[in-house]
Amino acid sequence: MGRGFLLVMIQQGILIVLSGPSGTGKGTICKQLLLCNQQLQYSISVTTREPRSNEVNGINYWFTSHAEFEQMIHANELLEWAQVYDNYYGTLRSYVCNNLDQGRDVILEIDTQGAMQVKAKFPQGVFVYIVPPSLDELANRIYKRGTDNLESISKRLSSASKELVSAMNYDYVVVNDEVDVAVKKICAIIEAEKLKVQRNIGLIEAICHNQL
Ligand code: 5GP
Repeated sequence: MGRGFLLVMIQQGILIVLSGPSGTGKGTICKQLLLCNQQLQYSISVTTREPRSNEVNGINYWFTSHAEFEQMIHANELLEWAQVYDNYYGTLRSYVCNNLDQGRDVILEIDTQGAMQVKAKFPQGVFVYIVPPSLDELANRIYKRGTDNLESISKRLSSASKELVSAMNYDYVVVNDEVDVAVKKICAIIEAEKLKVQRNIGLIEAICHNQL
């Protein structure tokens, strides 16, 4: 087996990080993305938040206690973690690193604090910020979702406008007006990222050395 071919074989997967204010529809976008792109691995976060009525442990989140979460922080098991609306949320380091090392693309749906921690460790990641068509539409969506109490809704709305400024630290911005369109755009981003020269040095070498 040629050297170039070996380099192509061990190419790392792409880490895609999706953020955006609560209620922008990141969860729906993620679900559809996973249906369209079956190669994509969704990283299930760990959280101390109480499960909502429609949520299942091990599918939406790994629900855990504050004590267990703090233990995970100390054991360095989390790639990133943040406190969001009074609860802890974090990403399992082993899940992400194992998949990337095996060449599988991984998607994280995390807040901006966590995304910036990931960016410091994986600058080659792809950072996508989802925005609502307007703040009024965002408020509508959170009310209609009906999963948050009034206090939680007002916290989410007041942080949304502040959080939108963080979009400047991301690589791409996608407006979620229609979910299908937003999903298509993110698929296009992933496709384009896969074609970047820096991600295909092994392939180029293999072609140059006639090793394919
Ligand atoms: P929710 O409570 O609505 O499920 O999520 C609240 C916020 O926490 C969302 O912005 C979501 O993206 C973020 N979040 C979910 N999982 C993680 C995680 O593992 N790490 C970080 N930093 N944020 C997360």
